[in-house]
Amino acid sequence: MTKVTLIPGDGIGPEVAFAAKDVVDATGVDIEWDIVNAGADIYEKTGEFIPEALLKSIEKNRVVLKGPITTPIGKGFRSINVTLRQKFDTYANIRPLKTMPGTKGVFENVDLVVFRENTEGLYMGIEHRINEDVAEAIKVITRKGSMRIAEETFKYAKEKGRKKVTAVHKANIMKITDGLFLDCTRKVSKDYPDIEYEEKIVDNMCMQLVMYPERYDVLVMPNLYGDILSDLASGLVGGLGLVPGANIGSDIGIFEAVHGSAPDIAGKSLANPIACIMSSTMMLDYIGERERANRIRKAVWSVLKEGRHRTKDLGGNARTEEITKAICEKI
Ligand code: ATP
Repeated sequence: MTKVTLIPGDGIGPEVAFAAKDVVDATGVDIEWDIVNAGADIYEKTGEFIPEALLKSIEKNRVVLKGPITTPIGKGFRSINVTLRQKFDTYANIRPLKTMPGTKGVFENVDLVVFRENTEGLYMGIEHRINEDVAEAIKVITRKGSMRIAEETFKYAKEKGRKKVTAVHKANIMKITDGLFLDCTRKVSKDYPDIEYEEKIVDNMCMQLVMYPERYDVLVMPNLYGDILSDLASGLVGGLGLVPGANIGSDIGIFEAVHGSAPDIAGKSLANPIACIMSSTMMLDYIGERERANRIRKAVWSVLKEGRHRTKDLGGNARTEEITKAICEKI
């Protein structure tokens, strides 16, 4: 039996997180869920954004399925998502972006995996105001952080039989920080002569992705570029409702969709649960339950292909629980 911490989150979080739990349970896997929440609702009740009970549960179980948690813009406290990634040192954020059947993706043939450095860059939260009119944010790139994301990327590419790794950067302007990042990706690439290695400047990469996504395979980049490019690439495959993610550390995995808490559609059963369900398949792979993970993937593929149960973001009118039930029935 595996113990997994389930964080429902807020906004559409509980709708998609419990949908994913139902789908995982439908495979018959022996998981005991430890359900503990964090976020604004918990703060109102307990005065803590991240309760001690949640930190203890994550420390003990080291496998987490997480719904999105709102980060209010410009309110002066740190994002809970970023805090968890830094506290548990989940240095690799992995986001597979693949065209699924019958979706509104502009492209038919996208099959990308974004590796985003997850703990440093501009997400260190080192910001200050110099005076009334000037504010500063500090971007930190370390050799350790860059080496381990580069190693994780190439290891994954080799294991999965991927052909090419593209390092994305802005080293023409940020010569020292992004330059150090590139030093590391170049160094690691030398250990993998069978995998093609190339570099692209981030602005050009955006244009390349919206014109020729089929030319790219595995991408590795510092934190902020990874955040932006994975949302951009989500649009290529039919939107945020479809794209899963994993935050991996040396002995911990926190699995969550790329999307946020989508307050505009929360509580209306409009949320597409597939991104969170696909994140749960990455979690099952991580705990060695590959066969069950594949069964879920097949069920999702088959429901999307049939097209009778699609949520509004995919051009249908199915409610969150209807598509979830259809996937559970296929399993
Ligand atoms: P964050 O900053 O927390 O990542 P965000 O500002 O990027 O959040 P999201 O919450 O991800 O925003 O939502 C962006 C848009 O995508 C919203 O219009 C939202 O309704 C839509 N969206 C996000 N997730 C889903 C989903 N699972 N199903 C349907 N629509 C979604």
